[in-house]
Amino acid sequence: MSDRYKYLLPEKDLPKAWYNINPDMPVNPAETAWNAVLHPGTKEPVTPDFLSVLFPMRFIGEAISMDRWVEIPEPVREIYKLWRPSPLYRARRLEKALDTPAHIYYKYEGVSPVGSHKPNTAIAQAFYAKEEGVVGFTTETGAGQWGSAMSMACNLFDLECHVYMVKVSFYQKPYRRILIESYGASVTPSPSDKTQYGRKVLAEDPDTPGSLGIAISEAVEAAVTSNGKYKYSLGSVLGPVLMHQTVIGLEALKQFEMAGEYPDIIIGCAGGGSNFAGFAFPFLHENFTNGQNTRVIAVEPTACPTLTKGEYTFDYGDTAAMAPVVKMHTLGHTFVPPGIHAGGLRYHGMAPHVSALLDNGDIEAVAVHQIPTFEAAVQFARAEGIIPAPESAHAIKVAMDEAIKCKEEGVSKVIAFNLSGHGHFDLGAYDAYFQGQLEDYAYAEDKVKEAMTHLPEVNLG
Ligand SMILES: *Cc1c(COP(=O)(O)O)cnc(C)c1O
Repeated sequence: MSDRYKYLLPEKDLPKAWYNINPDMPVNPAETAWNAVLHPGTKEPVTPDFLSVLFPMRFIGEAISMDRWVEIPEPVREIYKLWRPSPLYRARRLEKALDTPAHIYYKYEGVSPVGSHKPNTAIAQAFYAKEEGVVGFTTETGAGQWGSAMSMACNLFDLECHVYMVKVSFYQKPYRRILIESYGASVTPSPSDKTQYGRKVLAEDPDTPGSLGIAISEAVEAAVTSNGKYKYSLGSVLGPVLMHQTVIGLEALKQFEMAGEYPDIIIGCAGGGSNFAGFAFPFLHENFTNGQNTRVIAVEPTACPTLTKGEYTFDYGDTAAMAPVVKMHTLGHTFVPPGIHAGGLRYHGMAPHVSALLDNGDIEAVAVHQIPTFEAAVQFARAEGIIPAPESAHAIKVAMDEAIKCKEEGVSKVIAFNLSGHGHFDLGAYDAYFQGQLEDYAYAEDKVKEAMTHLPEVNLG
């Protein structure tokens, strides 16, 4: 065993294909990706025509593809090479700080230009739209990571980008907004008076902090009413987005070969599920087909516990009920989660694939509170040097808990988590933590119960 700290792949080892989990899903495909995506009005399975108003055709093709390996287009690989392959670290100093016999590894996606995993799909989506000759994209952003990824991607392919940013984040995270604007996109706090839906929400509740669901509705409305000028891009949840992110786990598999180890536990934080899926699905593929038995854990905030408390049922992807209806773990599309600082984890639903895998027992889910999560983040930063994004800190918290369990049980396991991004634009949240201003929100059971009365009526004959 060497005493290396990091495992770096040369550019030539950048994967040439993404892993598409559709053919390996252990459930009926009608439960996940494609023929269970329903039109928000008719509740009938959507047609490619309906979807093609929103998304590039190639993206829709990926959603229904049953090919296990989907080639990464060369122009996308060329841009990936600006920062990929990303490093896999052995967290030796954290192991020491925890005095654990566990081996802790983390894959670091914070090395991308915008500091998170999100460009892995933004680049692909922008390339597909460019191929179709559209003018640009509308999109939403929570904490601002998706907006900055999309803004960078659009700029690289010479496309316009219009971002609806959840209002609470717009004001909490001005530097993210400025980053988005630096790449040339426009940013609007959501709800806004630019869309019919935004005006309706503001009329009902002028002081709303906004939510990802509301911002999605505004961005979808702006694309749908643009006469084909703009496509809409989603940064998580959908099958193709999860697939684009598998470049993370595929690199990690090669890096574990270099390390001469294989993970017993894989951990990722889950907002819509994309960084979790991107890291975990290639390892699940090994579980399904190669006799591996790795535990796979998705971590979410207690304030928005979609997987651990949400029901697995059909719901709208957005608050205004304009986006397609899918079967997923949901807290109800009208649920507005408390304004925790991990803005990227404030979504009412969860990727259908991730939901189905949980339902089938292939993965586990854990919810953690905000304050212990920041405690873990700070301990990690003081051991390893990297200030993690508050979202990523959820994965760190559970990795540390598992490492401490190893110590108590006297066993050495290999624990790997995805460090989905750095926290340099989230220092306001760290400041609030250091000043003792953070709250642990109890699960808002009553609000969720109320939201669950607004589920769509679906009759899948
Ligand atoms: C957006 C984001 C998340 C949450 O989104 P997923 O689709 O669940 O990955 C997590 N971490 C970071 C750093 C993010 O930017």
